[in-house]
Amino acid sequence: MRRGGSGLRGRSGAGVPPRWRKDLERVLISEKQIARRIRAMSRDIQRDFAGHEMVVVSLLNGTVLFLADLIRQLSLPLRLDFIGVSSYGAATHAGKPVFTKELRLSVRGRDVLLVDDILDTGKTLARVLAKLRALEPRRIRTCVLLNKTARRLEKVQADYVGFEIPDLFVVGYGLDFAERYRNLPFVGVLRSRVYDLAGRDSVARPVTIRFYSFFKDLSGCAETRETVPEGSTLGELLEALAARFPKLGGMEKSTLTAVGLDYQDRSYVLQEGDEVSLFPPVQGG
Ligand code: 5GP
Ligand code: MG
Repeated sequence: MRRGGSGLRGRSGAGVPPRWRKDLERVLISEKQIARRIRAMSRDIQRDFAGHEMVVVSLLNGTVLFLADLIRQLSLPLRLDFIGVSSYGAATHAGKPVFTKELRLSVRGRDVLLVDDILDTGKTLARVLAKLRALEPRRIRTCVLLNKTARRLEKVQADYVGFEIPDLFVVGYGLDFAERYRNLPFVGVLRSRVYDLAGRDSVARPVTIRFYSFFKDLSGCAETRETVPEGSTLGELLEALAARFPKLGGMEKSTLTAVGLDYQDRSYVLQEGDEVSLFPPVQGG
């Protein structure tokens, strides 16, 4: 009883806010289209679940925005729980799903609505469905915001689908790339150069580090090159540097500037060719 799957007739190109233009090629699904579709989906869900208390089981972390909007449209008694699943693998190609948080509510004999952000190869949903079925719920229905059938490997379908999308790597509205872009209120297409740089499997990335003033004396060099594994953050690089140059051990408290990057935060995921400049601590800063 597969439902919906509003095709995407939408124009593309325009609509990317200036702040995101260097990262995003286009808006695939606008905030307005999402809101309208969620209202329709929630009407279907409400009709199918009427009369039974439901347990909504949502997969972390990609569903946060979708889930919040969806359940606010459901005027049914429901209980909410989460399962953590992560797919470790290359940047834009998921690997084997690994559970990072287990269900806490009992679903035995209950009506379960399983919510995920996107159904791609189907490995995640197949894994989670097997796990849930073993807990003997009365029934399970699955609900996904996006359905990308082109890459399906498992025989799994969603009962409620927000949008059918082509084989593109999308971000926003909860979906991330290296934990970024989840906060976008729309679904957008990431520029390929963003993931081309990051997506080279397990290829170490050379990053240049420059030492300023007394850091130079402590490290014994003005500049060095580190290679960091794919997905490494600025924080991890700093730890690696502290290990390599023990005299820099107190560096965590220092002021760090990543030259040529928009970010100074330690969670920034390093890209090949980045230059990180280490400045001495600012007194009283
Ligand atoms: P599956 O196990 O069905 O291959 O993949 C499901 C998971 O892969 C999703 O929950 C999501 O985390 C990730 N994924 C698949 N396609 C995309 C995509 O286009 N963009 C993003 N950000 N994540 C995706
Ligand atoms: Mg996910």
